[in-house]
Amino acid sequence: MPATPAWPPKSAPRLFVPGPLSEGAAVALDGGQSHYLGKVMRVATGDAVILCDDATGEWYARVAQSGKRDVVLSVETLLRPRESVPDFWLCPALLKKDRFDLVLEKATELGVCEVRPVLTRRCVADKLNPERARAIVTEAAEQCARTALPALAEPVKLDALLRDWPEGRALFFADENGGAPAAAAFAAHSGPAALLVGPEGGFDDAERAAIRAHPAARAITLGPRILRGETAAIAATALWMGTRGDWSATG
Ligand code: SAH
Repeated sequence: MPATPAWPPKSAPRLFVPGPLSEGAAVALDGGQSHYLGKVMRVATGDAVILCDDATGEWYARVAQSGKRDVVLSVETLLRPRESVPDFWLCPALLKKDRFDLVLEKATELGVCEVRPVLTRRCVADKLNPERARAIVTEAAEQCARTALPALAEPVKLDALLRDWPEGRALFFADENGGAPAAAAFAAHSGPAALLVGPEGGFDDAERAAIRAHPAARAITLGPRILRGETAAIAATALWMGTRGDWSATG
């Protein structure tokens, strides 16, 4: 019996659109998405498109109309419900724009649940463009076929992050001055977790003391070398995903 071909094809374009999606709904794409499907992907009426709404899940849709200016899709069937992602927050100090963009993109691919940017004394960047950040995580989610977008919080000052830290969530603190070996620390703690990473200039002594004084904080080392903030954030997130995340789920 020949295997039934997977439908829609994995090559079908994937887009996040405002939800909630439902069977039979018509979705008129915005200008940017219409241009992408119409001009770049050159879709034709009847072509398959995969739509996600970050609420109900992932849907098979067909191109109902592909005009010069706008593309309209017809939602057909639910392929899979919105996934649950590992309960891991990444709390990276703001970095210079292109480096922080990399952190946002890789954190999304790696499967983080939420990104909570932090402002610390030695941050070079002091603000984040929310629309731009949202576009980066959305594009990364489309590329890696996530059905759930990572939540993206407003940047908060370190003292506010510590003051308002939620009960029951471990705060792994990547301390360039040293800490417990990260893999062992991750393996030893089940439950909701978060990773705090400093900026290009690292944490100052007062910040380090405040973090270490927090009951949820667990200082970890990422080895003998000084990693760039983006390297530390990406590498430690990958390590957590492999130790406590969903990378061990068999295919
Ligand atoms: N300029 C600082 C280092 C900053 S590195 C210095 O020379 O000391 C940016 C952030 O990455 C650090 O604040 C820390 O959170 C993380 N980091 C880098 N290397 C690390 C390591 N070996 N162990 C733990 N965290 C590390």
